[in-house]
Formats: sequence, C-alpha cells, structure tokens
Amino acid sequence: MSARAESVLAPLDVAAVRAEFPLLSRTVHGKPLIYFDSANTAQKPSAVIEAVDRFYRTSNANVSRAVHQLGAEATAAYEETRSKLARFLNAPSRDEIVLTSGTTQAINLVAYSFALPRLAPGDEIVTTMMEHHANIVPWQLVCERTGAKLKVAPINERGELLVDRFVELLTPKVKLAAVTHVSNVLGTINPIAELARHARRRGIPLMVDGSQAAPHLPVDVQALGCDFYAITGHKLFGPTGTGALWARREILRDMPPFFGGGEMIREVSFEGTTFADPPHRFEAGTPNIAGFVGLGAALDYVESLGRERMAAYEHELLGHATAALKAVPGLRIIGEAPHKATVISFLIEGVHGHDLATLLDHEGVAVRSGHHCAHPLMAFFGVPATVRASLSIYNTREEVDRFIEAIDRVRKLLV
Ligand code: PMP
Repeated sequence: MSARAESVLAPLDVAAVRAEFPLLSRTVHGKPLIYFDSANTAQKPSAVIEAVDRFYRTSNANVSRAVHQLGAEATAAYEETRSKLARFLNAPSRDEIVLTSGTTQAINLVAYSFALPRLAPGDEIVTTMMEHHANIVPWQLVCERTGAKLKVAPINERGELLVDRFVELLTPKVKLAAVTHVSNVLGTINPIAELARHARRRGIPLMVDGSQAAPHLPVDVQALGCDFYAITGHKLFGPTGTGALWARREILRDMPPFFGGGEMIREVSFEGTTFADPPHRFEAGTPNIAGFVGLGAALDYVESLGRERMAAYEHELLGHATAALKAVPGLRIIGEAPHKATVISFLIEGVHGHDLATLLDHEGVAVRSGHHCAHPLMAFFGVPATVRASLSIYNTREEVDRFIEAIDRVRKLLV
C-alpha cells in the first residue's frame, strides 16, 4: 500500500480533533457537555476562531472597493475562500461560486432569479416529502406568483425517497426539481447522481440542498451532475452568515440579479444600469467578509482531516449510536434508510420530546427537539416533533454511551 493510501485510511484521531474545538471542554449544568446538535450548527475549531480574530486585528477593510493595502488583503482573503469552495465542491470554475449568507439565501436566489422568470401558469416544480422549509417555501412563493404548481415526490416509512415516483413526476411541465442531498431530520442520503441523470435526460435542471451533506460527505458537483448546489458555512465548522451557491456557468450567465446595490454593477446611471458578470452580479452590498475568511479556514481544516476519513469515522459512530438507541425500551427511530449521515431522529413511547430534551440538557446533553423546519415530513410520520441527535467528527462512542445512560435515567423519571 502506498504511503498516501495508508494515510487516507488511517482512522480519525478523535482526541486530537476534540482538542481543536475549545467549546467542547465546557460544562453545562455542572456536567461535561455532550454536543449532539451539529445538524443545527456545528462547533468551530480554533483555526476558524483565530482566522476571524486575526482578520479583524490585522486586515479588516471592505472588499473590492479600496485600493489601499488593507482593502487588497481583505479582498484577497475573501476571494480565496471562493477558490477554496470551488475546490471543495469540485466546481469547474471559481466564477461558478456565488457567496451567500447560507443555504436559505442560495435557494431563494435560484427561486427568484432562475425559477420566477421561467415559470408560467401550469408549469411545475418538483420537490420531495423530506425537505427543510428552506427548500419548500421559496418554491411555494414563486409558484403563487406565477400560477405554477409544486409537486411532491413521496418517501417510504424508512425515510427513503421513492425514486420511481420522483421520476414519474418529471413531466415536460417541470421547470426545476429541488431535492435535499441529506435530510436534516432522517439523515437519509439521497441518490443525487441518479436523480440528476433522470432530470438531465428530460432537460430539467436539478437544484440540490447540500447543507446537511457537505459536513459529512465528499461532494463533487461534476460527478453528481446536478445544476445547482447550495451549502451553509455554519454547519461546516465555519461562521454563521456564510454559505454558497454553485451553479453552472451558462445558467448563472442567464440569471438576472436578485438583490441590487453596490458591488454587483458594471455601470449605473438613471437611464439604466448594467450588471457585473457572475458571480459578483449576485453579491450586492458588503458581505460577511470576516465570516468568509473563517469559512476558508474551516475548509482547510476539513481538507486537513480528509473527508473520506471523516465519513468513515462518522459511519462507525452512526452504527454504534443506532444500535445503542434501538436497545432503549419504547424507542422508535424515525428514518432508517440504509444510506444515512449521522442524524438520528427518535421518539420514546409515553415521553414528550421537549421534556426529554430539557431533562437531557440537565445531564449536559444538547439535542434538538421539535419539527426541525420540516412540517410536511412530521405530518407524513404522523408526529408533531422528534428528538434529534446529530453527531459530528468531534463526538465519541463514550459520549454515545453516556447519552444512552442519561436517556435511561430520564426515562425512569418520565415513563
Ligand atoms: N436545508 C437543510 C436541509 C437544513 O438543515 C438547513 C438548516 N437547518 C437549511 C436548509 C437552511 O440553512 P441556513 O438556515 O443555514 O440557510
């Protein structure tokens, strides 16, 4: 085996990873913190915190408008993150990366700038039953404005997309399909490359919500064959208020601006304004510069660990956590697809999710309880809410075991 292959396969050193995340060493209610809410937002490694701190201490200036040294440094650092994102997603060009405040803004950009001008009454957009509201509501809004309809591809009880039914919906009326790569509730990993092949064959652009995939899986937009891919920086160990939309160059070229303002124009007069080329056409106003500097550090950090290695570690952790949870009496896991990321939703018979999450918090365990911005999915499973444990590279088997012990203690109080 080559040295490189060996190093790729070497397991993740989780103790070293944990040491990079200062927040993980704190206590909550006098107990060591067990942070199982990374699907909500991930914790930040020192490299990210320090990059943001260093930027404000040494290079703070606005981007793209100053000729002075600080402006040049700030612009270079900000633009470097665009290049890193292009490499991270294997985009063919850095000009195909639009920097956004997160996935929500990225999806809205596609809704208003791509979909809205193309939709007519009777047209359709296809999405799935397992989407986050961010990948539902923008489509509903543009459908309402145009008389188009939103069609929903069903899932089964295990939380898998019914691919045949998705494909059946791809009729000539469909102007766009929008699917999550990984469900934030079920953990299901959707077969995006397969869906993209079906969509492409019919000339239908495919938008992928990658906010829950990018922190867990290697993402290669060229291999996936989709047309749009949205990510969120804060779930990827970067600062809040950062994210990106990747879209094919020829698609971006034909999209009108969504927000107007500074930074996105070529020339402005009261007779008319001409716009900058993509991606700057879509980046009006002062962006979250320090945030993107931090996101660049987060991408470096992820690359230094190796995404295959991270995924292998998480896969093992998911297996351990799933088996341990299944052994808890009365516990039902919502989402049992064979291909999953480290997101586990569950319910315990006779126990209200909020009560469980509140008592677990007193044990130092941070899990989320609620509808997870996925009302239609909750309705499909006939539940108002679930408890969700979402794990990351800094979590351990020992934490999972302590979590299960905490659930046992809490169950005795509640059942
Ligand atoms: N899509 C999915 C699947 C998500 O989990 C989230 C965040 N919970 C979003 C979209 C929205 O991301 P953001 O709020 O960071 O824009």
